[in-house]
Amino acid sequence: MSASPDPTLPPSADGTPARQDFIRQIVREDLASGKHAAIRTRFPPEPNGYLHIGHAKAICLDFGVAREFGGECNLRLDDTNPAKEDPEYVRAIQDDVHWLGFQWHDLRHASDYFEVFYLAAQKLIRQGDAFVCDLTAEQVREYRGSLNEPGRNSPFRDRSVEENLDLFTRMRAGEFPDGARTLRAKIDMSSGNINLRDPALYRIKHVEHQNTGNDWPIYPMYDYAHSLSDAVEGITHSLCTLEFEDHRPLYDWCVDRVDLAHSPELVAPLTGKGLPFEAAKPRQIEFSRLNFNFLVMSKRKLLAMVNEGLVDGWDDPRMPTLQGIRRRGYTPSALRLMVDRVGISKQNSLLDISILEGALRDDLDAHAPRRMAVVDPLKLVLTNLPDQHEEQLTFSNHPKDASQGERRVPFSRELWIEREDFEEVPPPGFKRLTLGGDVRLRGAGIVRCDEAVKDADGRVVELRCTLDPESRPGMDGANRKIKGTIHWVSAQHAVAAEVRLYDRLFTVADPDTDEAGKSYKDYLNPLSRRTVTGYVEPAAAQAGPEQSYQFERIGYFVADRYDHREGAPVFNRSVTLRDTWAGKT
Ligand code: ATP
Ligand code: MG
Repeated sequence: MSASPDPTLPPSADGTPARQDFIRQIVREDLASGKHAAIRTRFPPEPNGYLHIGHAKAICLDFGVAREFGGECNLRLDDTNPAKEDPEYVRAIQDDVHWLGFQWHDLRHASDYFEVFYLAAQKLIRQGDAFVCDLTAEQVREYRGSLNEPGRNSPFRDRSVEENLDLFTRMRAGEFPDGARTLRAKIDMSSGNINLRDPALYRIKHVEHQNTGNDWPIYPMYDYAHSLSDAVEGITHSLCTLEFEDHRPLYDWCVDRVDLAHSPELVAPLTGKGLPFEAAKPRQIEFSRLNFNFLVMSKRKLLAMVNEGLVDGWDDPRMPTLQGIRRRGYTPSALRLMVDRVGISKQNSLLDISILEGALRDDLDAHAPRRMAVVDPLKLVLTNLPDQHEEQLTFSNHPKDASQGERRVPFSRELWIEREDFEEVPPPGFKRLTLGGDVRLRGAGIVRCDEAVKDADGRVVELRCTLDPESRPGMDGANRKIKGTIHWVSAQHAVAAEVRLYDRLFTVADPDTDEAGKSYKDYLNPLSRRTVTGYVEPAAAQAGPEQSYQFERIGYFVADRYDHREGAPVFNRSVTLRDTWAGKT
């Protein structure tokens, strides 16, 4: 199922190893046979919400295939439904595509082609392929029939071409109220495919559009606009998700009946806008949607969570939006790795979230520099060091990647360690610090705990320890066998940081089942965000926004894209070191 590289094939045009899946196989054959000299794809989001993890799959496929085969990919905003669309979404969509590492050939809007669609509709009318229908929405439903029952012809189906042209012109002129009439394709009311039972091509809607203002009181329907947009742009392979499979015959019908390649008068309006027309007959190919458990991905539900204040906005690090997971610390390469691992197929499935988290872990394990940070601090004092003791130790930035170099880590008499790394009454198998026991301080030496100082409530507030002077870095004594190693930061040098410990937003794997009158809102994880004050070593505080680190022994963290400052660091937990989730809260 994976689209992982196939070493038996020559590398792609972008130098990456060839990927193998049924779509790339079709593209390879179409280029080899000379069907297309070059390929062109498009990514066509509707700007009615923010893009999510599912869209990352479509983006990696649409843009990736074009790049791998030396072709081009357009970013097309499918803005045919004015009521729900917003320029804020348009900006975020562009930001997301760039962030994932892709660049579009052309930025287009479906609304760029409204005039072409209109002229094409008149052509269909003249050919006897479309008619103006006066049935109400409810009557249309009655006439449509069902899966077992053929539909019935609309009583308006046999209007003359002249009458249709006149009525359509008047629809366009704004003479009729919303819903009064539709323009419908004349195909086959008894087709086994309901999409072919004289589907609507245009509806009347007196709504202002963000690009075309009040120019149009009629708007094209999705299948009509999408197929013709592909044809206008010379798209060779129109990749979309499986729910459009049953729409493909209508897609082909629109492309064939309008036949833009042989109708120069229809594309003339494009020249006025400086838009090139490149004839190619597009082929629609469907693949399965990406779905993960523990997530809710429908734009409508994400919008509801934002509007109801269940999350802190579209870019809340717990949201599955690309803006959200970016803030959480997901990297573009982790998402591309996930998409490669999941592969492209026609089998719809619900994938385990560990595939997503695992890709992030693997990417950060390979690339994120290491740092030390303490999220639940307990003071540790080395009583045998003088008060003023201060030294700079040298640590490598990455254990497996020497090219990441080294850094200096200050070490002094007073340190912060993780509270859970000390136990007065150690449970069996405990390998860290205990009273009278030894532990290795990562990269610094071996300490023995002599005393645990407590406050009035009996809570341990400070550990008093002795540093073995023979165990310092480079000395023979440093090799002494010790059960455990813990991390630390120098109390005098460490920088206090806001640490946001994010966790899954939902407590159950299938928050979206709508069972027993419950909804995803009933399964919100109350512990999905805990904020604590921790301490980070100076080299971590200096991070730029969006820098990822592995904080040794605690997890992968990212400097918050918006709130992090060198003097007031803010780190978000991206993912834990291991898959520790067991459905617990
Ligand atoms: P939603 O159902 O979340 O509202 P949508 O399909 O309406 O999404 P569009 O803006 O129309 O969103 O999607 C743009 C492109 O991204 C389409 O080609 C669509 O097929 C694809 N896409 C959307 N969701 C997924 C997904 N979960 N997996 C793969 N591709 C997707
Ligand atoms: Mg859609």
